[in-house]
Amino acid sequence: MSQTEINRKVVILGSGPAGLTAAIYASRAQLEPLVIDGPQPGGQLTITTDVENYPGFSKGIMGPELMNEFRAQAERFGSEIINVWIDKVDLSERPFTLYGKASQDAAEISTIIKAETLIISTGASAKWLGIPGEEPAPVGLGGNGVSACATCDGFFFRGKDVVIVGGGDTAMEEAMFLTRFASKVNLMHRRDSFRASKIMQERVFNNDKIEILWHTEVREILGTKEEGVTGVKIFNNQKKEESLFPTQGVFVAIGHKPNTDLFKDWLEMDETGYLKTEGRTMKTNIAGVFACGDAQDHYYRQAVTAAGSGCMAAIDAERFLVEHGEAVKNTETNW
Ligand code: NDP
Repeated sequence: MSQTEINRKVVILGSGPAGLTAAIYASRAQLEPLVIDGPQPGGQLTITTDVENYPGFSKGIMGPELMNEFRAQAERFGSEIINVWIDKVDLSERPFTLYGKASQDAAEISTIIKAETLIISTGASAKWLGIPGEEPAPVGLGGNGVSACATCDGFFFRGKDVVIVGGGDTAMEEAMFLTRFASKVNLMHRRDSFRASKIMQERVFNNDKIEILWHTEVREILGTKEEGVTGVKIFNNQKKEESLFPTQGVFVAIGHKPNTDLFKDWLEMDETGYLKTEGRTMKTNIAGVFACGDAQDHYYRQAVTAAGSGCMAAIDAERFLVEHGEAVKNTETNW
């Protein structure tokens, strides 16, 4: 099988708000960046509905529409965006090497990418409870009544009774969204207070279709391949009682895990896998490698902060290239 080799001064891995903002800045610095789409091009906002807190959109904007705008803006200034599955990386020397396959399941490496600088914006993915019944079908009921994305799958639960697990903003947002379709939304949380923002909590408390079950842990998802989900086994950790709770769908909204496994042999991370960066910069422990967005930030995790950190990573990469005499096209940049 033939292999394609691509050489770039700036390679950006991931195309969410962080990656595409890095691309806008790097392309305006005439560095002609290559952006590599991950398995979810556009990132997590593409599976969101209304984005009400991104500045500049007083009436809100739909997540996918916002990401299309980011993408068009990056391309307008000369970013190239490709869809390749990166299977492994070699960060031992510059240029760094990324080994790409046509898809995750493809047997062979089809693209070798050489990067003078690398910006990692691989984002984060939804976490799961790790309980029986949650596994993807055909082993469990994942995709057959169990989901981690209400905006993707809520439509299938029209007129049904569903459970959602979690106590953060994602759980509140998804619970509200599900009330558009489901007849009843049972929000199960393991403690007796939510960590979600007050405004989101208020919306949930004021919605008649949402019932909150405090101190409730979901221990198993029950059902069959034919019927889908029929119920959940729950444990009230205050009363120390286990019971069966009939339901037709389960949505898990308990946070996210950074997509950084690819870099575990190379880059410093915290105990949960978030990439470490130096001081106020986006520099990782390897010179020429930068990290931004949800792969690096476990604290703010907002589209606007991800975009800001993408901008910083691009400026750091451009300055790195200037210092190494490699930003040949335009060393005096008007950002
Ligand atoms: P969070 O980490 O904020 O919340 C996760 C929730 O899931 C917590 O309530 C936690 O419980 C619960 N949880 C975690 N693990 C388990 C488990 N194994 N079993 C049961 N429950 C569990 O994640 P979110 O995804 O909600 O939010 C992430 C970030 O994104 C936040 O900063 C949030 O503000 C932001 N966000 C903002 C939105 C907006 O502004 N529109 C929308 C969505 C997210 P416990 O509280 O007990 O730890």
